[in-house]
Amino acid sequence: MFEKFLKGKTAVVTGSNSGIGLGIAQELARVGADLVINSFTDSQDDHALARSLAAEHGVEVRYIQADMSRPEDCRALIEKAGRCDILVNNAGIQHVAPIPDFPAGKWDAIIAINLSSAFHTSAVALPMMRKAGWGRVINIASAHGLTASEYKSAYVAAKHGIVGLTKVTALETAREPITCNAICPGYVLTPIVEKQIPDQMKTHDMSREDVIAKVMLVRQPSGEFATVEQVGGTAVFLSSPAAEQITGTTISVDGGWTAL
Ligand code: NAD
Repeated sequence: MFEKFLKGKTAVVTGSNSGIGLGIAQELARVGADLVINSFTDSQDDHALARSLAAEHGVEVRYIQADMSRPEDCRALIEKAGRCDILVNNAGIQHVAPIPDFPAGKWDAIIAINLSSAFHTSAVALPMMRKAGWGRVINIASAHGLTASEYKSAYVAAKHGIVGLTKVTALETAREPITCNAICPGYVLTPIVEKQIPDQMKTHDMSREDVIAKVMLVRQPSGEFATVEQVGGTAVFLSSPAAEQITGTTISVDGGWTAL
């Protein structure tokens, strides 16, 4: 659909060695963006993934290890990238439990990785965007940034928080050629969702098939999972000239979930 209009731009995508982050990285590279991909690990597979993305799309790809639960790592990731025209705050984790049983450490980790990391990366990336005269901040929120589900207190709080941060970032950059928006996916079948299925089976005393159909996709009127390519394509659109006046808002990729 788009030509290589992001040639010469660098996209930093947090939490991008799997799932939605990897899908977004793929789609941005497809339209010419150089990439910095990231996770908290530093394995041969991580670096091999960077090489294979570079070979597939003919762009520069670096893998930079940084733990998004640590503020200093978040800031160092952007500093090491050296340039950040497109910042995609994607890293995220999940834990499912009723509030009285929700481990405090899990609450802290979810708030740190899913919310605070975006504040720290943005704090370093925005001055770089200002210097370059162009920028896009794309925060990966969730349908849970707009609605709630039981047993997901920390996740829903973090995702509502990142929608708020998105609005403030947009207002602080409104007079500049920088935009900030949040993508709110519904269920996408990635490792984070796979990991929830056993917990949900236990909590609801249901089979895997019933959890998928009656707990997860029951909220998604399309009855289908969204795909990482669709979320990645939305990030490409937000980086395109057509989206220059779109800022401070949310775009749902949720099969109708938030229309209910
Ligand atoms: P995933 O588990 O496949 O990917 C999460 C990514 O974050 C991985 O690359 C992982 O390595 C990375 N990560 C985790 N902890 C990290 C840390 N401390 N430091 C750096 N990286 C870390 O999950 P996903 O479904 O691809 O989720 C990506 C984002 O999309 C998350 O923010 C998630 O909340 C959001 N989201 C997912 C869905 C869905 O249905 N899958 C729906 C809505 C929103």
